[in-house]
Amino acid sequence: MQPLSLPPRLLMGPGPINCYPRVLTAMSTQLVGQYDPAMTNYMNEVMSLYRQVFNTQNEQTFLIDGTSRAGIEAAIVSILEPGDKVLVPIFGRFGHLLAEIAERADADVHTIEAPWGEVFKPEQIEEAIKKVKPKLLAIVQGDTSTTMLQPLDELGAICRAHDVLFYTDATASIAGNPFETDKWQVDAVTVGLQKCLGGPSGSAPITMSERFVQHVRKRHHVEAGIRDAHHQDAKGQRIRSNYFDLSMIMDYWGEERLNHHTEAATMLFGARECALALLSEGQEKVLKRHKLAGDAMLAGVQAMGLTPFGDLQHKMTNVVGVSIPDEVDGESIRKTLLDTFNIEIGTSFGPLKGKIWRIGTMGYNARQDAVLHTLQSLETVLRRGGCKLPLGDAIDAAMSVYCDEK
Ligand SMILES: *Cc1c(COP(=O)(O)O)cnc(C)c1O
Repeated sequence: MQPLSLPPRLLMGPGPINCYPRVLTAMSTQLVGQYDPAMTNYMNEVMSLYRQVFNTQNEQTFLIDGTSRAGIEAAIVSILEPGDKVLVPIFGRFGHLLAEIAERADADVHTIEAPWGEVFKPEQIEEAIKKVKPKLLAIVQGDTSTTMLQPLDELGAICRAHDVLFYTDATASIAGNPFETDKWQVDAVTVGLQKCLGGPSGSAPITMSERFVQHVRKRHHVEAGIRDAHHQDAKGQRIRSNYFDLSMIMDYWGEERLNHHTEAATMLFGARECALALLSEGQEKVLKRHKLAGDAMLAGVQAMGLTPFGDLQHKMTNVVGVSIPDEVDGESIRKTLLDTFNIEIGTSFGPLKGKIWRIGTMGYNARQDAVLHTLQSLETVLRRGGCKLPLGDAIDAAMSVYCDEK
């Protein structure tokens, strides 16, 4: 076998995306022992950095080792006991995932659905909460399957008023769209690195409010015959996963450092660097960079005469759905873009399969040159594929978005 040799792709799909080079560098660092003070010090730094990323004071802020859905699974299996009611408003593929994970935890799952391409009004969610009286509201913030961004700012107050815990999956939206854990009164949030944070998949940052933590801590907890002090008088059923037992993972990241898994140190170095990249550039600036890239991509697509998907009022900054013109085969256009231009754009699932492409502008790739290369290449491939397009307009429109900003 030959040494690794990958084509130099420009990843302009809904994730993963090309990593920030500094993240890759951090991930080639040598290891130290798991409880080496050098290592535990970095673990503490990661907790502190992710408090800033999540805009929270939550003590319990750390990493779940695994891809984003490891974070989702940890939050859901640790909070929901069999029979607990959960309300999952679904507006895309990842809402279905939250519901499925809750079902596997034997929770009593109630869903409401919005058509793909739309989001919920807070009143619709409040009404469902009144009817269902759930223990937990579980909802996605940005669903890349539809490109929609669910407004969350009013949901925290609604949840508090009805004594409901509030969990969200902000994997696809964090760092590209505003997220305020404390201001919005979100009780638990999980994310991943491979979208706007500009890292590889494989680490799932999580933060939990004190209220959420108390509910998790209440659960009965025994590991392989070892009963630990925190849980002597715990009530409720034992968390049905060892790996995703947030109670044990808190003890592992806490002062006592009770052994759980072996920290995925290389992922931790990557996650730390993602947070540093965000915070050293500045959250406001990074949000603005994503907004600009997203606006420029949208303007370019529209100037080409293509139709963007969904309610644009609620579009995520970092991904746009583009209706595939009738004259062309969507997959063959994607293949040519990849083979000839080394550019990857996304396909779609479920009801949108074969109907839209999804073009992302995230993290390291939320850049003017990446936007322009993608638009120019797409225009060329579509033209050669037989589409009649106003040539050059896409680039001009995208460049105007950037010029107007100056
Ligand atoms: C991309 C995405 C994920 C990714 O989950 P993985 O386990 O990392 O594949 C999760 N949630 C949402 C909302 C996403 O858009």
